[in-house]
Amino acid sequence: MRATDNRYAGERERFELAIRMIEHEARTGTIRLCTGFTEDRIRNIYASYFPGREAVRRRRGKTPSQIAPLVGSARRQGEASLLAGLFVQTGVVRLDPDTRALPAVAEPCVTLGIGLCDAFEAYLILHPEPQLTFEWTWNLYRCLVSRRELRLVWCALCEGSYVQDAYALDYERCPFCELKDHA
Ligand SMILES: [Zn+2]
Repeated sequence: MRATDNRYAGERERFELAIRMIEHEARTGTIRLCTGFTEDRIRNIYASYFPGREAVRRRRGKTPSQIAPLVGSARRQGEASLLAGLFVQTGVVRLDPDTRALPAVAEPCVTLGIGLCDAFEAYLILHPEPQLTFEWTWNLYRCLVSRRELRLVWCALCEGSYVQDAYALDYERCPFCELKDHA
């Protein structure tokens, strides 16, 4: 393949990812991080391909708690756990079998963006009423691999894996066993 063909293929891949992320209502900042496109370029894609739809910019003001909506209820926690498993499957995280840590596979890039879209789309198919948006999926990824506010742990009762607040004490029970216990 000639260098120009390579460049064209790379550009096309970034463009297709941007379209996919816009369809999932990702914010401009997230699209920029994964595609490397400028905000102007992203706004132009909105204008050309999604007329009438505004680019979603990062909201100003205090950032809301990053983890409460991900683990605040058994339902959300179950959905976050499903997504974490899909992250392993699509290769955006690599699970260390010894430490159970989730080191990032790559800095934000096209490969990461594609893997996150694959995981999010599988989640939408697997869950009848998904509560988590693409941006929360992005937050979940960041909290697991860079901020380390969440971690993947194993349930003491059923041994299933689930996402847990890294700093909270719980009874080492996954959301499903926790729900059953209170049923
Ligand atoms: Zn369990």
